[in-house]
Amino acid sequence: METMEVAFISTDELWSRGFGEAHPLKPERLQRTYELLTAYHAFDAPNSHVIPPQPFTREDLLLFHTSEYVDVVASLSASKGGGVSARRYGFLPEETPVFPGMYETEGLKVGAALTGARLVAEGQMQVAFSFGGGMHHARPALASGVCVFNDVAVAIHWLLRQGLRVAYVDIDVHHGDGVQAAFYDTDQVLTISLHQAGILFYPGTGFPGEIGTGAGYGYSINLPFLIYTDEELYLSAFRQVVPPLVRQFAPDVLVTQLGTDTHYRDPLARLMLTTHGYVALIEELKALADAAGRWLAFGGGGYALDVVPRAWTLAYGVMSGQAFPDRLPPAYSEKYGPGSLHDAAGPDPMEAWVTAETRAYVEKNLAVLKSQTQDVWHWE
Ligand SMILES: [Zn+2]
Repeated sequence: METMEVAFISTDELWSRGFGEAHPLKPERLQRTYELLTAYHAFDAPNSHVIPPQPFTREDLLLFHTSEYVDVVASLSASKGGGVSARRYGFLPEETPVFPGMYETEGLKVGAALTGARLVAEGQMQVAFSFGGGMHHARPALASGVCVFNDVAVAIHWLLRQGLRVAYVDIDVHHGDGVQAAFYDTDQVLTISLHQAGILFYPGTGFPGEIGTGAGYGYSINLPFLIYTDEELYLSAFRQVVPPLVRQFAPDVLVTQLGTDTHYRDPLARLMLTTHGYVALIEELKALADAAGRWLAFGGGGYALDVVPRAWTLAYGVMSGQAFPDRLPPAYSEKYGPGSLHDAAGPDPMEAWVTAETRAYVEKNLAVLKSQTQDVWHWE
């Protein structure tokens, strides 16, 4: 097989500032991932390249955001201002607080997204991983769920302008609502999101009835899961939906949001995946990316500091065709403690009635999805 050239979009500016010590989206998630990959010599392979993000421009942000919102973010970022006006644009202190330099730090993720998009669109790389991005909740004029600028939606808009059709697969534990809404009425982008059901859970959307409108009917696909869904059930549902639909759609580019907050030890959510299930998902996505010839991958959520670096290191290993020894390398373990790359343990087995309920919910949703989209997709 032909060698895949793979770009890891990174600079230490991505983790130099953030929402503050008490906030779960800690910049250390990114720093530790970069350090773990470096300790494994992941960037020494001839096909593996660390590429810094290009500077972003106001015009880049305007591919998705309103000019009013861009001005508001710039001025809040410079003045450190909060208060009523900030709330109107979605900046809630407990969720998406304003911080000094926010415009530059969050804009850099858009620069990183467009760097990756250009590399794969122009064919210099087959895969680009903007691990610091994946801010899938932000709206054109609204910050939401720790997301200020929607780097994913900006990049997809840019890819569409190059005449490329995009399949977007979002495996973050939260519904990819901002990206879904951005392309809800077009058949040029297929969005598929798998997530913990929005029942008393942010952002409260992502049910199978959200299917798209107009030309986009059938091109928004949602697969929610009840809490305590295990990875066997999750993977089986993924395999029934994602590969068949993406293959039928035959995209020019596969775009993925690879949040790791489906992990059983994630503090914000309650799905029960391990690193083994996560890698199985990445391998499925890699096969679809190989068929498309272009893969633009994003990071995303994931709030357990000892899980995120391992999960994204494993993901990068799949992307770049590298297998890393399971024992964490000394350069990393001396700083953060010893351990293994894959989970050594898994979640406690659930009671049979829990498993029966999570399974029945998936089966019901799959039936709804299939019946609503049978004129658009061929289901096995
Ligand atoms: Zn998330």
